[in-house]
Amino acid sequence: MTMTTDTAAQNFVIAPPAVSSVAIAGTEARFPIRRIFCVGRNYAAHAREMGKDPDRDPPFFFTKPADSVVDNGAAVPYPPLTRNFHYEIELVLAIGKGGFNIPASKALDHVYGYAVGIDLTRRDLQLAARDAGRPWDWGKAFDLSAPCAPLHRAAEIGHPQKGRIWLAVNGQVKQDADIADLIWNVPEIVSILSEAVELKPGDLVYTGTPAGVGAIVAGDKVTGGIDGLGDIEITIAPPRG
Ligand code: MN
Repeated sequence: MTMTTDTAAQNFVIAPPAVSSVAIAGTEARFPIRRIFCVGRNYAAHAREMGKDPDRDPPFFFTKPADSVVDNGAAVPYPPLTRNFHYEIELVLAIGKGGFNIPASKALDHVYGYAVGIDLTRRDLQLAARDAGRPWDWGKAFDLSAPCAPLHRAAEIGHPQKGRIWLAVNGQVKQDADIADLIWNVPEIVSILSEAVELKPGDLVYTGTPAGVGAIVAGDKVTGGIDGLGDIEITIAPPRG
């Protein structure tokens, strides 16, 4: 007998949360999100601007809630608790096929597609946590902290290994680099992450930001892009009342 997968038939005491998702370029279909992983310090120049030596120590990861994702074009209210709210332009990959202990040589088979994303960061909270040996969550894992432009399917565009990655605030370019400069590339990231957790379809990975991070305030328009993956644009709205 087949088990039902109809959530309406299950006996939840409150309505189950909606499934978070990101758009897919060229279709009305959307990609459902299970988890959001982020790589810390994956471009040497950014590691240096954060006061750390770039090296080939194993990459480290942090996470954001699945429902922190926001669509391209959104207005993101200036978040609470911070006085130093930062942008970080990043290459985002989406896992379409799960796996555990995936070898780097097979890792690209697990990637559904790629997008331009922004790892929004409450930098003051992140650095205070870092320096106190506390978790980064309040600096990174807050509401609406993961803007993500539409995914481009690897089946259509392949697996980008180089190309300009940039971000501008009110038209002034702040970050300008190349994804070829990733310290840990996409196959390595997927492989290493899969040694720590079993990856599942719907997982996103923000792969780290190049140098040039900085603060944004209400009223700012933040744009960015990666060659071959289109652009992203968000505006920063006043804080929620
Ligand atoms: Mn980041």
